Amino acid sequence: MPRLFFLITLFALFLQASVVERKPWPQGESFLHFLEQNSIPQSLYWDLDKEDKELCEEIRAGVPYYTMYDDNRSTIEQVLIPLNEELQIHLKRKKDGSYSFEMVPIAYREYSEAFSISIERSPYQDIIKATNNTPLAYAFVDAFKNSFDFTRLRKGDKVAILYREKIRLGRIHGTPVIEAAMIERRKKPYYLFRFNDRYYDSRGREVEGFVFRKPVNRVRITSRFTLRRYHPVLKRYRAHLGVDFGGRTGTPVMAAADGRVTYAGRLGGYGNVIKVRHRDGFLTLYAHLHKFRRGIRRGKYVKKGQVIGYIGSTGMSTGPHLHFGLYKNGRPVNPLGVIRIAKKTIYGKERKRFLRIAKERKESLHEAVENGKTPRKMEDLSQAMVPMERETRIGG
Ligand SMILES: [Zn+2]
Repeated sequence: MPRLFFLITLFALFLQASVVERKPWPQGESFLHFLEQNSIPQSLYWDLDKEDKELCEEIRAGVPYYTMYDDNRSTIEQVLIPLNEELQIHLKRKKDGSYSFEMVPIAYREYSEAFSISIERSPYQDIIKATNNTPLAYAFVDAFKNSFDFTRLRKGDKVAILYREKIRLGRIHGTPVIEAAMIERRKKPYYLFRFNDRYYDSRGREVEGFVFRKPVNRVRITSRFTLRRYHPVLKRYRAHLGVDFGGRTGTPVMAAADGRVTYAGRLGGYGNVIKVRHRDGFLTLYAHLHKFRRGIRRGKYVKKGQVIGYIGSTGMSTGPHLHFGLYKNGRPVNPLGVIRIAKKTIYGKERKRFLRIAKERKESLHEAVENGKTPRKMEDLSQAMVPMERETRIGG
């Protein structure tokens, strides 16, 4: 398979290059402007299909990207720009001086482990002390904060966590995901299980988080969220960092939660866009809008359910729909993980599946408590990690 070979060797080629530069993506920089700045023909952008053009708007300010120059540093040979924790844009100079554009996976290792600790001060402080892993402590508190009052914990109570995490070049990559967790308060356990990107208690009832409402009244999902998928027909990688809701032009679009408008204007492939910042580090994005509601502009405070714009087909869009994106601390997350569309409790076949998974995870948590399994500290990870199923291919 020549393609696989290419993916494996890509990073090696990169390392051999004479000059590789690592720089943070500048605030407010557009992909198109980046091409212009670096004398890469802009036709590269205009020739992209609409999904890729949309993704070009997803490059985050501050994310490190890599540029490889030729020996005398005059020509850019390759560029790697991460889009999210799974995919990156790869630009490569061809013989005729034009450039190719490809989405390629980012290499990382993923591992999973369970551990338990005793409470000394607070779960947040104690998890950091035991693991040196602040994102993990944050994820734990975030998962439990709406269902458990941490001030009720006493010294000697226990916490057990089963999580998975990605490691890339010896560092944490992306955000740790808590698959299951238990707080044992005076010997009484409280559980959380992750299922379809949401948290449930042991009986399969959803633990209420920060609840967003649907941004449109009639929900018809035409495209779902994915950080990475391989398109077998086009033979290429893709991402879709939001959910598409089909609807007629002019259908009202509502703010999914209270917040402040941080952007209302044109944004490349996304067309007319509104961005709203909410509490807890959330941000919502509403794209391809036909128009904005009067008075909706930057700095405006909007209430949950308030109409802010209307469905349209602006930017790169084949037909009227709302592209709805959700970001937590700048990272794209699945909007369907926080919007309530389905019922609060899991029923039927799904319930069977949930109970089976919950049982397995509960056992892992109890094992961790009984064996006093201590967590891995972050410094040890480079030597001691246990690679899991996904040993990915490309570096960079
Ligand atoms: Zn979309």
